[in-house]
Formats: sequence, C-alpha cells, structure tokens
Amino acid sequence: MLAIADIVEANFDELAMLDSMDMGAPITRTQANRDQVVGTLRYFAGVTTSLHGETMSNSLPGEFVSYTTKEPVGVVGAITAWNGPIGATVCKMAPVLATGCTMVLKVSEESPLSALRLGEMLLEAGIPDGVVNIVPGKGETAGARLAEHSDVDKVAFTGSSFTGQRIVRASAGNLKRVSLELGGKSPNIVFSDANLDAAVAGASAAIFANSGQMCTAGSRLFVQRDIYEEFTQRLAAFSQKLKVGDSLDPRTQLGPLVSEQQLERVVDYLNIGRKEGARALTGGERLTEGALAKGYFVPPTIFSGVKEDMRIVQEEIFGPVVVAIPFDGVEDVARMANATPFGLGSGVWTSDITKAHILSRTIRAGSVWINCYNAKDPAVPYGGFKMSGYGRELGLQHVEEYLNVKAVWIKVS
Ligand code: NAD
Repeated sequence: MLAIADIVEANFDELAMLDSMDMGAPITRTQANRDQVVGTLRYFAGVTTSLHGETMSNSLPGEFVSYTTKEPVGVVGAITAWNGPIGATVCKMAPVLATGCTMVLKVSEESPLSALRLGEMLLEAGIPDGVVNIVPGKGETAGARLAEHSDVDKVAFTGSSFTGQRIVRASAGNLKRVSLELGGKSPNIVFSDANLDAAVAGASAAIFANSGQMCTAGSRLFVQRDIYEEFTQRLAAFSQKLKVGDSLDPRTQLGPLVSEQQLERVVDYLNIGRKEGARALTGGERLTEGALAKGYFVPPTIFSGVKEDMRIVQEEIFGPVVVAIPFDGVEDVARMANATPFGLGSGVWTSDITKAHILSRTIRAGSVWINCYNAKDPAVPYGGFKMSGYGRELGLQHVEEYLNVKAVWIKVS
C-alpha cells in the first residue's frame, strides 16, 4: 500500500488531469486532492498494523477462555459515482487492501479514466492479479450484476439514494453486507454573530465548489433574519466573481457539469424553482455566451423567497444552486435543518460555542462542520444518517465494514 501511495503521489498530476478532462472539475481542484488521496492510502497502510481482536477470559466463568479474531469479509463489489473519481476509487480500495479483501470496482460510466490508470499503477506496485479488478460499465448492467451476484460478499456503494435502494434490494439474494454513501440536501446555518467574511466565502464554497456536484453540498442556506438581506447580497456579489470556464484553465473556479443529462436535470430545477415562485438573486439560467455556449455551464445560482415544501428545497439538485431561507433562533433553525429525508453534511457559522454545541447535537447528519465546511481527513469518519445511507468511510471504523468478527471458545477445565 505504501508503494501504491508513492506511485500515486509521483503521478498525481496525470490522475488529476484525467479527472478534469473526464468530468469537468477545475484542474486546481483535482490537483488539490493529492494530499487526501495519498494520505488515505498511507493512513490505511498504517491501520493494517492495528487490526486486532479481543480476549474475554477475565469476564467469563473459569472454565472458558474466549477471544475474537477479525477476518476479511471476502469479495467486495464497489460501485462509485462520477463526481470525485480518483478520491472515491482510493477511498473504496484502501480499506479493501488493508483488510485482505479483494475487490471488483464498477467505476462510474461518466468518469472511468483515472481508475483505469490507477489499475496500471497497482500492477507497477506489485499488487497480484485478481486482487483489484476494475470494470467500467453501465449501472443497469455491470452495476446491477455486481449488486446481485452471489459470489460478492459485500457491496460498497456511492451514488444516489434511488440507486442505493435498488442495491439493497439486489443484495438480498445472498444477504451480502452493504454500505451506502448516498445523496444529501445539507443545511448550512449562518448566525448574525458569525465572522461574516468567513461565512460568505464558506457558504459559497460549500455549494459552488465542483459546480455543486458534491454529495455534502451546503444546498440549503439558513441565514438569521436580521442579516438575511445583507448576507445574501454579499454572497451573490462574491459568487458572481467566481470564474466559470474551461476545466483545464488554472484560473477556473467552476467547470462545466459532467454531462448533457446533468445539465438538463439542473436546468429543469431552475425552471421548477421559478415556477414555484422562488427568485434568483444571481444566476438562474444556463450560460450561453461565447465559448461557454458549447459546454454544460451553469453559473452560481441563489434562490430566495422559497418555502419549505418547494421541490428545490426538498430535492437534491446536484448543481450550483442554493436556496436561502431566513430563520429566527436556534430551535427554529434546528427544526428546519432536520426537515429533510437526508442527513449527510451540515454547517454552522457562529462565534457562540453554546449554539454550536446545541446544533451539533441536534442536527441529524453524519458530519457537522462548525465555522468551516467540507473539511475532510483520512482519520475522520464520514457518512450519512437517514436517506443519506449507512456505514462509514474513512477513520478506523471504515475497516470494520470489511471485517467479520469470529469468536473462538476454549474450554480449559
Ligand atoms: P447514480 O446512483 O446514478 O450512480 C452511481 C453508480 O451506480 C454509478 O456507477 C452507476 O453506474 C451505478 N448504478 C446505476 N444504476 C445501478 C443499478 N441499478 N445497480 C447497480 N449500480 C447502478 O449516482 P450518480 O448520478 O453517479 O452520482 C450522483 C449521486 O451520488 C448524488 O446523489 C450524490 O449525492 C451521490 N454521492 C454521494 C457521495 C457520498 O459519499 N455520500 C459521494 C458522491 C456522490
């Protein structure tokens, strides 16, 4: 694993370039992923030395000694989404290798290139044939077959909640283990006592980075009523300055959406929002000027005048579109933050530690970021509540998803 990390690190610019060309993320974003990807490989290489069972002799009646061992679950079928290709691939692969499992990886049909290049690097690092098998293909065929296959012991899935439900149904044949990293509609909450300069930049990055194609995107922005007008105007002014353009241009901050289908989906939601009575403070239309007309470009869009039951407030859009909603106090915003079927990410911007603690306990989501958003580290677990899935990736808990516990009993009397 350390050899893989070295090779990936040395060739990371190429992997970043493949991801940017394949799915449109800005080159500065894909390059900035280096530490997380290489760090994940090194972190899980370290974890291999700390996997252990337990001994229970002290707590048992005198005639028994019992201990546990941990064994690899076996063959893992991994299925990934397209929005962070090399990160998702390595995040699935590292715990597989650390636990002694093997893997069949069905990468997203939208962005398979970096995983295929990684496959060459694995051979170079000396990983034996058959340990990691990379199979690009369509979801309906290759993905579905993997999810139902009786020789697959576990499925590790990243994608939409809709497909996640299909995976669970398909897994029933041999009751394979399943972990699900699914969609979100994450709340990002700004109190008037926050450092507003940091909150403006943070709220913008939370939704507009990767053109909003992030599962944890802070797509529901709650702003305390006394600063609502000022804050949303500042956010609009800040976001209008973000440079939208060619993914390979190092000045680009928002690239195109991944595909025509994704463009249609996002444009549909822009139209739905307007029909529902929301008002775009900035953006709101596909970009059709000059060179951008040839690509799938949507500018940062902020909707105000929204109601909680609108589809643009309830449903995951997966584009650079945020709804801004005013709130009065902690209780009020805690209720609204949780009024979603999802529970993946969340953010709180405040200088009041009490509010931060109350909300970190109340919000039902796998991650709560206080005065930051989307911070990630290989050592910190990541995953969802509710329709955002179950199981955790990263952190020590991740390897438990790939291990079976066996109890051994010895009668000593
Ligand atoms: P998707 O569900 O359409 O596809 C995800 C993967 O599943 C792809 O590889 C696809 O080919 C495959 N697939 C499709 N149908 C299948 C089937 N019937 N059986 C087996 N596999 C099938 O999702 P997407 O559009 O690629 O990605 C966007 C979604 O992924 C969003 O909802 C986003 O929030 C979510 N996502 C979640 C995380 C997370 O960590 N929680 C990370 C990234 C993306």
